[in-house]
Amino acid sequence: MNIILLGPPGAGKGTQAQFLVEALGMVQLSTGDMLREAKDSGTEMGKLVADVMSRGDLVTDEIVIGLIKEKLDGEKGAGFIFDGFPRTLAQADALGKLLNDCDIKLDSVIEIQVDDKALIKRIAGRSTCGGCGQVYHDETKPWPSDGKCSSCGSADVKRRADDNEESLKQRLMEYYKKTSPLLGYYFAKGNLVSINGLLSMEEVRDSLKKVLS
Ligand code: AMP
Repeated sequence: MNIILLGPPGAGKGTQAQFLVEALGMVQLSTGDMLREAKDSGTEMGKLVADVMSRGDLVTDEIVIGLIKEKLDGEKGAGFIFDGFPRTLAQADALGKLLNDCDIKLDSVIEIQVDDKALIKRIAGRSTCGGCGQVYHDETKPWPSDGKCSSCGSADVKRRADDNEESLKQRLMEYYKKTSPLLGYYFAKGNLVSINGLLSMEEVRDSLKKVLS
């Protein structure tokens, strides 16, 4: 199975992708994670994208398509989860071509639907474990009281630099201007399935399982 998870920032793409990796051994390809890694390790590309990311703008198609191409050439597993990619029509066209060249079939594009007010609330309280990437939320899944991640025991709590109200507004604007047209694009291709992302994490997970089976 190869799928794209589509939805605005805070829809739960990363959280659900994590579940699919653990449960089904799929390979998560998150361009956001790849770019943050480049930024944290101080590569030339990382320096180039740092400001763009903290403002909440999209980085160039060329950079993210290059990142995905590298991964597709190297990774193997029980299918790919494209998380946060594609985000523009040019990226969607490029992905179609890359998959075609590698003889990989795209099975589904899953839209996680949420409303904008819920997104702002979710993102404002979000944190991640620096050790294993487990996602926490101040209200719905608080960081354990012993100060250690429940999955890996790390004490490294991370909050994303772009998880603030100003960047979020810009990220949402970018989503509606550049990414939401992909819903029509994949509907026309016959790949689109929409699920309700406002339900609990477990219920969204179940809807996802249903789509995949
Ligand atoms: P994410 O972790 O998916 O929310 O991405 C964080 C930030 O990385 C975005 O706000 C963009 O600045 C950048 N980014 C991630 N994926 C892409 C993409 N496919 N195209 C352009 N920019 C991206």
